[in-house]
Amino acid sequence: MNSPPHTRLFFWCVLKDIIPTGDHLTRRSIYGPSWCSLCKAASETTVHLFLQCPATCTLWNNISAHIIFSRNWRGDDITSAWTYWNRCHPGSNLLNLPLVVTWHIWLARNRYIFNDQAVCSPRTEENIIAAYQELPDPPPSRPRTIQPPPVIDKSHPWAFFDGAANQNGCGGGFVLHVNDHHKYLVKMGFGRGSNNHAELLAIRNLMHFSLDHQYTNLNIFRDSMTVVNWINNATICHSHTLSNILYDAHTLKAAFNHFSCLHIYREHNSEADKLSKEASLLSRGEWLIVEVQGPDEYRYYHRPYIDQREQWGNSPDIRQ
Ligand SMILES: [Zn+2]
Repeated sequence: MNSPPHTRLFFWCVLKDIIPTGDHLTRRSIYGPSWCSLCKAASETTVHLFLQCPATCTLWNNISAHIIFSRNWRGDDITSAWTYWNRCHPGSNLLNLPLVVTWHIWLARNRYIFNDQAVCSPRTEENIIAAYQELPDPPPSRPRTIQPPPVIDKSHPWAFFDGAANQNGCGGGFVLHVNDHHKYLVKMGFGRGSNNHAELLAIRNLMHFSLDHQYTNLNIFRDSMTVVNWINNATICHSHTLSNILYDAHTLKAAFNHFSCLHIYREHNSEADKLSKEASLLSRGEWLIVEVQGPDEYRYYHRPYIDQREQWGNSPDIRQ
């Protein structure tokens, strides 16, 4: 599970049925609304609020238009719904979805009770989808059979990229191959942010870097299906923060004569993966670049901190 700790703790309380829903408060003679804030047609219990309420069912239906899952959130009680969901989505990021939805339903319920705000508005849906999409990719669950490496058309430059977010911060890395003998290894510090944030900054900066060096034909490879689908417009990104970076990347695509972004298996992206993890130690806006031309010819560039919001669009001003 890679959803934030507060959603995991809250969901554990939901499973144990120890959150202060109306039925619990009534039993303890504590004044409060005993009806469900979402539908106002039933008493508020954990099972009703998070599983059976018509408003909760509508919310799940609306989310399914944006996030694909194979089986619905259903059952006689939360534990059986959770067991069923686990069985249907083993080892995937979808395991986090009930945690995110449950947490946001609770927030919406509290906003209604304490701040008199509408519940289950489109805003709640958007918050859920954005929170889910900003989760980091799940760790590999089990060793897979070895996959064949990608077939690379070496008549154009090609590149691999990756993003990493950890306790140090977040960073991105890419390897841009001009040909078999000439390549750039780039590490970029991004400050704080989610994994998808780092991924999108990495590909956007790779596109800038490539165009700045007059490489207008480019094939890119990445092992995150989410980001590849966003870049190819196969799925829509609902996070406002990420959408802005994605918009830049889509605009940059138009400047290429040829551009492709394809999915590869994780084991074939190890060089960019290593660069991005090392990049998470850099300061925000700091770049380290190694240009390799032949077996013994290396050139190192270091670009110190520059605020990316102000300078992007320009050449990365590399200096020896
Ligand atoms: Zn209800």
